[in-house]
Amino acid sequence: MAKSPCIRAIPQIFNYKPRNEHDVRKHLTGFEGKEEAEKRHKSLLKFLKKYQPLDSDLITRLSRCRRNHRCRLQSCPMCMRRLRIWFCDQVAPLISAVPREWLWVTLIPERHCHPEGSLAEFKPQNLIEDLRRALRSHGIKDIVICGAIDYCMEIRKTVEFTPLYHWVPHCHLLVRISSKQQSLLRTAFSTNLPSSTLVDRPVHIAPLKSDGFEILRPISYCVKARFNSVYVPPRSESKPKAKRKKQRMHGRHQAELASFLARNKLKDRLVLIGAKRVQKSIVLSARLHVRKTNARATNFISYTDAFRFDTSW
Ligand SMILES: [Zn+2]
Repeated sequence: MAKSPCIRAIPQIFNYKPRNEHDVRKHLTGFEGKEEAEKRHKSLLKFLKKYQPLDSDLITRLSRCRRNHRCRLQSCPMCMRRLRIWFCDQVAPLISAVPREWLWVTLIPERHCHPEGSLAEFKPQNLIEDLRRALRSHGIKDIVICGAIDYCMEIRKTVEFTPLYHWVPHCHLLVRISSKQQSLLRTAFSTNLPSSTLVDRPVHIAPLKSDGFEILRPISYCVKARFNSVYVPPRSESKPKAKRKKQRMHGRHQAELASFLARNKLKDRLVLIGAKRVQKSIVLSARLHVRKTNARATNFISYTDAFRFDTSW
């Protein structure tokens, strides 16, 4: 098995203590516990040994991940739980000031779907560049996007009843754009992401409804560390809209995804447009035509420059 790209540990960005008011562990009901992440880590190792036994470097590095010696791989459930805590603490201040001015956007670009066994061919940077191009081509500049690429395994039954398995990389994005430009944003994405037989609803844009601590839910969902499969029932005239069913991802798919994610850079997972990561901070780089945002951005930068270390995890 060819393993061309090497394994990459992401930068040591999340060993710090989040602010109390944006600590997702304290305020979000149902946020994954440490034990849950440890359990998933254990079963992932089992799946890797069974389905990707030649990926011994990954297996070794994952199995050595422990307190004060984290592997920092994007396939590690324990390290990714820390990434979620970091991401929530960084993005929440941007949203909490003006939650009603943000949109929740899901994009499913069909051209980036891949059959099972070939996820390594997916290039996250191409997907992100497609988004940037869509915005550029419609003249959208004043926009802030904080989100990430997510992964799903879609299982479809064909007429012959042979299941077809497809990786469906998609984006969950929190977007701030002026209300005047919202319809332009919809046009930009819809033009670039047409619906198809594989993806019937590639663009979903809705106002962000959460506020208070609940804004942590969509933020943490962007970088969720547990991935699912979705069973798509065959369409028939009698059942034109049969329901898709979410199910636990099979071990062999979890292993393939882990092997892929371990070779990703952090910028291959996070989608930051009009915002950027500067060491351990996410800071705004866009200038919005909204006074409040600029004021918030200034406060935000001064806060995040003073991040606090916590090496106890
Ligand atoms: Zn780890």
